[in-house]
Amino acid sequence: MTKKIIVIGAGPGGYETAIRAAQLGLDVILIDKDKKELGGTCLNRGCIPTKTYFKNAEIANSFNRKEEFGFEFDNYNINGKRLQERKNEVVTQIRSGIEFLVGSYKNLELIEGLASFVDSKTIKIALKEGGEREETADYIVIATGSVPFVPPIKGADLEGIMTSDELLDIDYVPESMAIIGGGVIGLEFGCIYNELGTKVSVITNEVLGSADEEIQKRMPSFLKKAGIELIKGARASLIEKDGEGYKVTADIIGKDKTKEVSAKTLLIATGRRPFYDGLNLEAAGIEVDRGIVVDENLETTAKGVYAIGDVIKNSMQLAHWASFQGVSLVEKLVKGSSEIVIDVVPAATFSFPEVSQVGITEQEAKEKGIKYVKSKFNFSGNGKAVSLGEAEGFVKIIAKEDLSEILGVHIVGPHANDLIHEGAIAIANKLSVSDIAKVVHAHPTLSEAFMEAVHQLEGASIHSA
Ligand code: FAD
Repeated sequence: MTKKIIVIGAGPGGYETAIRAAQLGLDVILIDKDKKELGGTCLNRGCIPTKTYFKNAEIANSFNRKEEFGFEFDNYNINGKRLQERKNEVVTQIRSGIEFLVGSYKNLELIEGLASFVDSKTIKIALKEGGEREETADYIVIATGSVPFVPPIKGADLEGIMTSDELLDIDYVPESMAIIGGGVIGLEFGCIYNELGTKVSVITNEVLGSADEEIQKRMPSFLKKAGIELIKGARASLIEKDGEGYKVTADIIGKDKTKEVSAKTLLIATGRRPFYDGLNLEAAGIEVDRGIVVDENLETTAKGVYAIGDVIKNSMQLAHWASFQGVSLVEKLVKGSSEIVIDVVPAATFSFPEVSQVGITEQEAKEKGIKYVKSKFNFSGNGKAVSLGEAEGFVKIIAKEDLSEILGVHIVGPHANDLIHEGAIAIANKLSVSDIAKVVHAHPTLSEAFMEAVHQLEGASIHSA
């Protein structure tokens, strides 16, 4: 008999799991609150809306450097309503693409409603159209994602304070913005609005805390040069109303000092928490510990119930990680393929300049006692980067001391988020330094910076001093 799978949540984790399961011949039920939620956080309130605005910010960045590029005009205006409209158009277009894909499998049914567990094999759905429905399945996959986490800072509940969810709904460019949090989300919004003309202040204990230490050290100078006020080594402790805006008091960590920042708009970007509210996980015996607990095969403490993506404990909170997990899980369930190993996951930050990483950081190499060598090729030595007017930043590579394997790649600079995949392929396939070194790279391209960093490891980089 055909086996059945229920997938709860149609974010990038859930809908890709459902499609792959349908392709592999399972009977599939995919549940989300509303068809409008197809694509989940990533499409509706995350990756795609922010990257749509990032494009606006790139255009503004070029306008802001008009003299450098030889353009002459006095001023330009930004139509915030059009920015939002375009973002909505992009989201709608992608969502209808997903709806079409999901609808093209006869063995995949999309149900609009809220799911909760009756027991470990049975799901109750409170249907959007009214009424209830119960479904049982051989496998259940929880892919309910995450929601913004707001820490208990005094005043954080004042009206009008935004998380990324609300900020993506505004149709104007704020005059000034204070951002609490210097992780990926905080920096992306900070860089976008800074380019669009908002006076941005970022209050944070660290900048891109999971990045390689050299990038963590270098990033503040890029942000400050771009005009962002960075209050680093600080923790926001009090938020008060200040006229039409807010005043944030930040404690400077390790010093008996505070710093005050006032801004019309306040964004709290202090991370996201796994979302499993209302799922009634207890009924299925599913253990939770700040996220759903799963084993190495993504199985929860209830047999036959799995969890993927942002909802699991210690999640990487990346869309492609959620999708890859879901697809690998279904392959394993249907084909009985071997363990699910997803340890080479590139991460991208859309800041100015972009930051990307894959594999281990230098600090991890030190902590693990790995014997390593490293190289660093500056974009100032790359013809394409210079011609783009974006010659700041570098490609850093960490390799085994005997050059037999590339272990980590870290890029800050132009199109870092596209360039990182050459590193991902090298690491995932355990390529050696000479495997990459022998590959001719086209000229003039930013990829040559990666090649030169590889050549540097062999002492053969032409364009480094
Ligand atoms: P989600 O996308 O959160 O989807 C969960 C779905 O479950 C939702 O549709 C929800 O409606 C549904 N659901 C929840 N409970 C129930 C229930 N009881 N019944 C039915 N349905 C339910 N990641 C990247 O890789 N790249 C980026 O550039 C990037 N940018 C981001 C920018 C921002 C501002 C934010 C907030 C996030 C960003 N992310 C990015 C992270 C990315 O959005 C998440 O990692 C990804 O969406 C997680 O996918 P998921 O499938 O686990 O969950």
